Amino acid sequence: MAAPFGHAFIGMAIARRLGVRSRTGLAAAIVAGNLPDVDIPLSWLMHGDGWTAHRTWTHTAAFALTTGALAGMAGLLRAESVEGERDLIADTLMGAAIVGSHLVLDAIPYLPEVPIGPSAGGLRWANWALDALQWGAVAWLIWPKDGQRPEPQRAG
Ligand SMILES: [Zn+2]
Repeated sequence: MAAPFGHAFIGMAIARRLGVRSRTGLAAAIVAGNLPDVDIPLSWLMHGDGWTAHRTWTHTAAFALTTGALAGMAGLLRAESVEGERDLIADTLMGAAIVGSHLVLDAIPYLPEVPIGPSAGGLRWANWALDALQWGAVAWLIWPKDGQRPEPQRAG
């Protein structure tokens, strides 16, 4: 399980690894990585609490693949990252991978609860920090390093 920061870090890292360079594209990856949790505010609207509809239809492979593919196809993730013609298939798969990463991270258990300090959103603040550190470290491993940048294309 990952908290919103974890989903954001992993979403950005996948996007960056797949060539997204713009801030707009990385911001879209943050939204895409957290998109399945849109059921929390929807649950508030429909049921008066954030948990009745949580982890139901938005946490399915069909939702993740469809919404991610649409976001990728629409060019939201590649915004300002590509000059010239976009690869629609690659962008579609990237969107599906980023939204789909949410389901993978949600399937992994939280670290054990650290009973220190107040809690928010059902999670102790210490665990929010640990979650961010844990997924931040994983994102750092995914994120392309300076030595892995492709050489710029030279004309001619
Ligand atoms: Zn979730």
